[in-house]
Amino acid sequence: MDQLIPDYLADLLDGVRDNNEGELPTYIPILAEANPDWLGVTLCTMDGNLHSAGDDDVEFTIQSVSKPFAYALALQTLGLDAVSEVVGMEPSGEAFNAMSLEEEGNRPDNPMINAGAITVNQIINGTGSTVEDRVEVIREFFSRLAGRELEVDEVAVEGEMAGADRNLSLAHMLRSFDVIADEAHDAVLSYTRQCSIKVTIKDLAVMAATLANGGVQPVTGERLLDEEVCHQSLAVMASCGMYDAAGRWMARVGIPAKSGVSGAVIGMLPGQLGAATLSPRIDVNGNSARGVKIFEALSKDMGMHLMSTENRAGSQAVRSITHNGEETIVKVQGLVNFTGAESILRVLSEYDFEDGRVVLDVSNLIESNKMGRRMIKEAMRRLRDEGHDIAVIDPDSELKHRLMDDGEQIPLKK
Ligand code: GLN
Repeated sequence: MDQLIPDYLADLLDGVRDNNEGELPTYIPILAEANPDWLGVTLCTMDGNLHSAGDDDVEFTIQSVSKPFAYALALQTLGLDAVSEVVGMEPSGEAFNAMSLEEEGNRPDNPMINAGAITVNQIINGTGSTVEDRVEVIREFFSRLAGRELEVDEVAVEGEMAGADRNLSLAHMLRSFDVIADEAHDAVLSYTRQCSIKVTIKDLAVMAATLANGGVQPVTGERLLDEEVCHQSLAVMASCGMYDAAGRWMARVGIPAKSGVSGAVIGMLPGQLGAATLSPRIDVNGNSARGVKIFEALSKDMGMHLMSTENRAGSQAVRSITHNGEETIVKVQGLVNFTGAESILRVLSEYDFEDGRVVLDVSNLIESNKMGRRMIKEAMRRLRDEGHDIAVIDPDSELKHRLMDDGEQIPLKK
């Protein structure tokens, strides 16, 4: 039984192993020397459980997979308004290293292309920061996301800097429009050092899972980001993470994701898991050729697509209504989100409660969200206002503090 998920992941890798599409990138020497056969996949759940197959402890440079995390760090420390002054959130429809800025205004289109990522890197630790201090703040933050000390690969930095003409010209362009303040060389060095932090797919799966988990690192339990920050970073990845192939990716895989030129892809199923793959051959869009195939299969097999209409909730949310002396006991079940709560409210409003106590039994809830909880507490408040005595059966504290909108607490059934 233990082997079920790793066996499935191993089969998944076997399904793409013979695919030789794509090329190793040559413009960064260390990537040209990578083993093209590396192949691995890791999943990390919201409880911090890791499931892997293949090359899950090979270290490689994070490259563009760093972009959503650096964006999240900037959002967390500076806020969305300040970050949005310097970078947009629209897909550019161009290659990752295109010389692109928004048509109106001078902002780079989004933080997932190089122009945007160089800009985001610049504002971390304040625009007056030295390169060294800035990269240290980023390295430190990535280490907490991964749950271990990560390091910069100096050989990778040196090799990339020796041929960084494209990124240097991007930095000159950004500086000429006053988007960044650093000298072009420093801006590119700072960004390249961010891209050269070494990770494994196990690290990336945990980092991705932290975003999917709303900012709490699932293994260490540390809160590193606010929910809204994760939401924003995931949303921008959904439309811009896979560069020019983002539309096709959204249709076929259907989850926010980010790729990098070292061959990694991360994908996040919000509230459920973080996933990472490694396979170094890169397709024409700059994405790992086999990585894309693995995610397509994962999404299909596991029903991960966010637009899937299979995940219906709540049509049978009231399980039973029974009587016990003076009490009417309403047992609810399943997933109580807006739709689930709506169906409970409908049943409650149509039911002819006799005088006496109404007891809501939530012990069979699988899960609820804020909206769902608020709606059922509000329904209880109205029943109380209509003259009923109210109580809940809530052994797992599903309703948290049980506070209604008027500040009163629904009593537990003794
Ligand atoms: N450091 C690389 C670059 O700037 C990252 C590119 C990528 O991973 N797509 O070109």
